[in-house]
Parts: sequence; structure tokens; C-alpha cells
Amino acid sequence: MQAPRPIKKLRGAGEPPPNLADYTEARRRFSWAEARAELSGLPGGQGLNIAHEAVDRHAAGARRDHVAIRWLGKDGERVDVRYGELAERTARFAGALAGLGVRPGDRVYSLLGRTPELYVAALGALRHQAIFCPLFSAFGPEPLRARMSIGEARVLVTTSRLYARKVAPLRGEMPWLEHVILVDGEAPGTLSYERLLDGAPAVTRIPPTDPDQPALLHFTSGTTGTPKGALHVHAAVLMHHVTGKLALDLHPEDVFWCTADPGWVTGTSYGILAPLTNGVTLVVDEADFDAERWYEILERERVTVWYTAPTAIRMLMKAGEAPLRGRDLGALRFLASVGEPLNPDAVLWSDEVLGRPFHDGWWQTETGGIMIANFASMEVRPGSMGRPLPGVDAAIVRRTPDGGVEVIEQPDVEGELALRPGWPSMFRAYWNNPERYARCFAGGWYLTGDLARRDEDGYYWFVGRDDDVIKSAGHLIGPFEVESALLLHPAVAEAAVIGRPDPIAGEIVKAFVALKPEHAPSPDLEREIAGFARKHLGPAVAPREIAFTGSVPRTRSGKIMRRLLRARELGLPEGDLSMLEAGAGATGKAGDEAP
Ligand code: AMP
Repeated sequence: MQAPRPIKKLRGAGEPPPNLADYTEARRRFSWAEARAELSGLPGGQGLNIAHEAVDRHAAGARRDHVAIRWLGKDGERVDVRYGELAERTARFAGALAGLGVRPGDRVYSLLGRTPELYVAALGALRHQAIFCPLFSAFGPEPLRARMSIGEARVLVTTSRLYARKVAPLRGEMPWLEHVILVDGEAPGTLSYERLLDGAPAVTRIPPTDPDQPALLHFTSGTTGTPKGALHVHAAVLMHHVTGKLALDLHPEDVFWCTADPGWVTGTSYGILAPLTNGVTLVVDEADFDAERWYEILERERVTVWYTAPTAIRMLMKAGEAPLRGRDLGALRFLASVGEPLNPDAVLWSDEVLGRPFHDGWWQTETGGIMIANFASMEVRPGSMGRPLPGVDAAIVRRTPDGGVEVIEQPDVEGELALRPGWPSMFRAYWNNPERYARCFAGGWYLTGDLARRDEDGYYWFVGRDDDVIKSAGHLIGPFEVESALLLHPAVAEAAVIGRPDPIAGEIVKAFVALKPEHAPSPDLEREIAGFARKHLGPAVAPREIAFTGSVPRTRSGKIMRRLLRARELGLPEGDLSMLEAGAGATGKAGDEAP
């Protein structure tokens, strides 16, 4: 198939010139040491703290009264928080943490929707040098239990509803969870956010912070085992700042909207930090996706730079042009997308219908910031993730039998996407899992687990994942986590989970379930297991489809052969079956026994 034509946009009248004017030149001249001069650092050379770069330095200067966050509530509220106010509130939150005896390095978790308290807690924890860990509010109790246990949350900021439904029943298992702060009320064993902040002194001076001090813990999923907590340090703020400027082309007067939830890394790096370090106005919408509402926000708030995800773009395409009719989206200057493959027709659609192409970009939880992007001054190649950020070295590699890697120099050859360590927001550990961390590196490269190719002009093209991890609606889902929850159901003997391609969500989670001998497949049991999974995992993670199967195909060493299930599901060649355990799931299309 022929690739669609590249799109080169000319600058509109009155638009500022792109921050990255000439890609080749910028790459040649870039140095992280020089870029560091864009940040101010703590006064008196006392180190680097994300909250200072994101809030305090603006609050102390000419942008004190500039709107930092424009919060749009579900029910139509519209609240502006200025940089000066944000500094005051986050200083109080830090004071409250100090009053509770929270120490630097303690983990402060949030389980909140996109409400103003989430932003105050994140930045307040960072200025206190606690490690901030945002949890996605649509997670069910099982993903929450795993993530809070691995990181041993000492503080949790949440709502009374989320606490009662998801956390209170687990509290007895979490002796380390000392303080639960409720933003909207009180319950036994919890503290009131409002009262806590009212009584807290504002800690206006951020203590000296080593740039290598841990700052953020973001959970991500692999094929096997429990979720992994990727740990980032305060130095990452340089990456947030530089990518905000170069990859998202943020200019001082921009109104920026990132639709991602801070429960996922994009919603923190770009839904909180990058726009604030760049001193722009950040739009936060509390509500979930709604095409009409989204276009209204773009128009009414005069959003200039918009960062969203392919699933949302496909949902907008599906909604058609009716919700767009009569809208003036003329303020939009730059559109960017991340998180999953962006199909070329979505780029062409946005160019035609919104008047601007989406600029795809690539990164992942471990990289902490955008690594590859279609920059504003470059032509957009629909279907390509773009070119590496200045200061970032990428390559396509293949692993060698001796445990090293070999760089593939020829263009257009598929291999694993690798990055040369040294960018400031590289994760510094998987929490309490040094072996797993070490396995990410070989031959001086960080191996991303993604398959890609590079064309002769240096544009990267996504090919797929090198593992069984599922990307559904932009959320990375570990099959093991879903399988483990299904096994908690009394009728389930075995479970295997794959991603099944879906035209909107990219993939959906599909589970194959083998029942214990005393249970027989039936539509009722299928519904019951589906409901059970939703209750335990939450709607973002639970399988959307369940099929009964006689047994789950495994290798002779007992590993689930998800690839085989996937191949059968899609009618693809089954590949090498020599590893398959005799008997179990060896024949027939998976799901044959579905009712
Ligand atoms: P997460 O760590 O949850 O942000 O997920 C990172 C993964 O999302 C990457 O390793 C890729 O598999 C996928 N991903 C991110 N950006 C893109 C993109 N632009 N195109 C294709 N896949 C992407």
C-alpha cells in the first residue's frame, strides 16, 4: 500500500514561528547542559525541584496572575487558578504533609478524578519531596491493591465515594497506609483535605532538592508479573520543559489542553508538568469524552495547542461532522497525538476537517517524556511517529544471542526500538525490582519493547509490541493482571487474555476462560464472570469479551501461549508449535466452545 502524501502546513497569519525551526540544525546544536539554562533551579543554587519550575518561579515573577489551570467541572463550573494561587495552595499542601510527619521519599498517592485537588496534591507532594504516585480513578480494587502495595503508599488523597467503594475494604491489608485524606468529606480513619489545608502553614521555601531525588512513581504493565512502578526523578522536569517547547510547540500565550488523565503518565508529564513549566494556561476537563463537549471546549476556551490520543480522535471521526457544524476552531494551531498507533486516515481527516494535521509522537512510561515526534516545522508523514527529539538518540536494533544488541543501520528494516540512555527523564528504577530494571538495558541501549522501523529520512514507523501487553483506548494493560483477577472467580480454572483489534479502541481485552469441571459454559456464567471482572478490575481494565475454552494453550514450561490464541482469533498462521504442551489447547480455534 502506498503511504499517504506528507503534509506540510504553512504558518497561519499571526501565528508564532515554531520553537524548533530547523530540525537538522536543532539536533546538531542541542545539548542538555545548554537546555538546562531554560530552567531556573532553586534559589541560591539549591538544586532542582519540579514544583519550583512548574509553579513557584512563575508565581514569583511576571506570570503570577496568569491563569495556570482553567478547570472545567462536569456540571459546567469554570474555575481559574492563577500561578500565584497555585503556589499558595501547593505550599499549604506541603505544610500539611510536613504536619503529618510525611518525610521526603514517602509515597503520596492520589486516587481522584480530574479535580483541582489532584493538581494541588501532585505539586504539593513534589515540593515536599515526597514521591507522588497518581492512580487512575477507574481502576477497580485489584489494580489499586497491587499498586498501593508495591509502592507502600503512606498517604492517599481521594474522595469519600472512591474511598468507601474501593479502598476502605482493603485498608486492613495496608498497615503502611497511614493517612487517607478525603477531598470532600470525612469518614472514620480519614482526614479532611479542607481542614488540613486550612490549618497548615504555607511552606513557601522549597527545601534544597537534589536533581536525582525521586519524584514520581508511575505504574506500567508487562506481560508477566505484577505491575511495575517506574520511578522518575526531579531532573525529569528538564525533559518536560524541553518537549513542551519543542515537540508541543508551546508559546507563552498558549492555551493548552491535554485530554489524558493524570492516572497515566501522559496526564502527569503533559497534563500537569510540561505546560506549567512553560508557564502557559492548562485546560483541565473533569468530564469524560463527549464529541459535542470537546468541540465546545476547543472553541470557547480558544485552545491553541491540543494533545490527545488516537482512540479519542477515532471517536471524533465516528461522531461525524454534525457536532462541529458552526464551530469556530480557528484558535487551534498545533495538534498532537500519542499513546497508540495513529492511523494515517486520522491525520488526513484532521487536516481536512479541523484544518490541521495531528502530529503523532512516541514515548512510554519509562521514558517520562516525548522521545520521537512530528515537529511543527517538519512535514507530517501520516502513519509515522516522527523523528527523535534533539538530544535523544534512537536506533533500530536486534538482540544478539550473547545478550547484546546489534544496531540495524539500513533503513526500512524492522527491529526493536532502542534509545541511548542519558535523557533527563529516563526512569531510574522499577520500584523494588532491580533485576527487571537491568533487563531493560543491553549493549549500552535501553530497549523499549516496541518493534519499529526507520525510513531513510530518519522517520520512525511503529510496527507492534514485542510482548503480549495490550493497548486498549490508549491504556496499557498487562494480561497477567487480568488473568489473575479472573482466576479469583470460583468457576474459573484457567484464563488467558489477549488484545483483539478494534476499529476505535485499537485493541479490546478478550479473555479465554477454561472452567472447573463442575461448571458448564452458559451465557449466564459468561455475564457473571464479566461482571465479576469489572467489579475487581474496573471498566478500563476488565475484558470486554469472554469466550469459554476447554483449556488454555501453554508451552511445555507452563507459559500461556497468548500469541497462539491471538493467531487463532485473527485467523493468522499459528507459527511454530513445537513448544506447545501436548494436549492443552493444542487443536481447534480458541473459543470454539463458547455458548
Ligand atoms: P505507556 O507506557 O502506557 O505510555 O505506553 C507506552 C506504549 O504505548 C509504547 O511502548 C507503545 O507500545 C505505545 N505507543 C506510544 N506512543 C505510540 C505511538 N505514537 N504509536 C504507536 N504506539 C505508541
